[in-house]
Amino acid sequence: MTVSQRLFEQAQFSIAGGVNSPVRAFGSVGGSPVFFERGEGPYLYDADGRRYIDYVNTWGPAVLGHARQEVVEAVQQAAAKGLSFGAPTEIEIRMAELLKELVPSLELVRMVNSGTEATMSALRVARGYTGRDKILKFEGCYHGHADPLLVKAGSGALTLGVPSSAGVPAAATADTLTAVYNDLDSVREAFNELGDQIAAVIVEPVAGNMNCIPPAPGFLEGLRALCDQYGSVLIFDEVMSGFRAALGGAQARYNVKPDLTCLGKVVGGGMPVGAFGGRREIMEQLAPLGPVYQAGTLSGNPLAMAAGLTTLQLLSEPGVFEALESRTHKLAEGLRMAAAKAGVSVVVNEVGSMFGLFFTNEVTVSSYRQVVASDTDAFKRFFHAMLEAGVYLAPSAFEAGFVSTAHDAEAIDYTLAAAEKAFSALNG
Ligand code: PMP
Repeated sequence: MTVSQRLFEQAQFSIAGGVNSPVRAFGSVGGSPVFFERGEGPYLYDADGRRYIDYVNTWGPAVLGHARQEVVEAVQQAAAKGLSFGAPTEIEIRMAELLKELVPSLELVRMVNSGTEATMSALRVARGYTGRDKILKFEGCYHGHADPLLVKAGSGALTLGVPSSAGVPAAATADTLTAVYNDLDSVREAFNELGDQIAAVIVEPVAGNMNCIPPAPGFLEGLRALCDQYGSVLIFDEVMSGFRAALGGAQARYNVKPDLTCLGKVVGGGMPVGAFGGRREIMEQLAPLGPVYQAGTLSGNPLAMAAGLTTLQLLSEPGVFEALESRTHKLAEGLRMAAAKAGVSVVVNEVGSMFGLFFTNEVTVSSYRQVVASDTDAFKRFFHAMLEAGVYLAPSAFEAGFVSTAHDAEAIDYTLAAAEKAFSALNG
């Protein structure tokens, strides 16, 4: 028995399911989850002392790799001055100013503690601003685990085959409409019927919770036009795509401006952080300016701000994002070539520093329907072969992969050599 296996057994006595977030449990790929002890650059080291090249990157935040020295030092320096004040600090202004610079649609922002809080708060302010109740989301998109959003959700909800969750009262989702990602007709239908009641459309502008699905040409523009036509708030949930699809997020990459944006993951550089923001007149609805209540004891926490701000500063240095994107492209191209060599049919999607691998005979993968039809059994076997070789992929066929600036040529080459063997074994 490995140390990880022993720890997992022990964990199950005191932690529900042995994990603090469901996908970590390896439920859909089988086997026992790996327990990690430390990370450094592109590598993670497990409790048995084994090294892995990490493409989970803490589900996105570790865009500079693990334990980047400048980030760790910034947190250490902040910690020495006190962990939390529950009162304003200057670093919160610097964070807000940098966010506005990198994502110009953010006229005003609020920091929160997770992506879930960001989307929950953005919905509330959108409803408060419009005076309407209904929201529209897309099948396969995940926006955290707030009740009204746990309808046809992606990520763990998709992985575990529970499109909705027990414990969510019907009343909490009664105003949640769903449409089909990359299918504007399905959105038009909803607007035709109920457009004057729709407060907001919330969308992952690059879907990353049904693996990685880029927006079809015209999809985001179409959402923008429908929201304008009906006076609904367009919310881009860029918790995952922010600072990943492009430095300025998917909205910069595809040049579509949302009314509100949700951020998380990279914005905290590995600390528990989220943010939401957007048009001034909407954000001015928030207390203490307006009637929409939203708050947080630890929001804008100085350690979290130090980690996030330093991460964003380093990521926005000239050439850094471009290099990250070209490394991701090298990985994606290499995976396509390795699969072709082994005679395995795959599609590899890539957007900025996100990627997605699908075992499928389709030529492209751009819909939820295609994602769920992909060969999850082949993924499972590929996942375990890669894990065995020391490459840590997300333990689910429905999660996107992430590359960091620390993934150098050596790490990518090692990954591709391992992938070639793993693909070949699938045919063996
Ligand atoms: N929105 C999106 C697009 C996400 O990917 C996630 C997390 N994977 C969330 C919201 C929720 O964020 P958190 O897990 O920090 O609550």
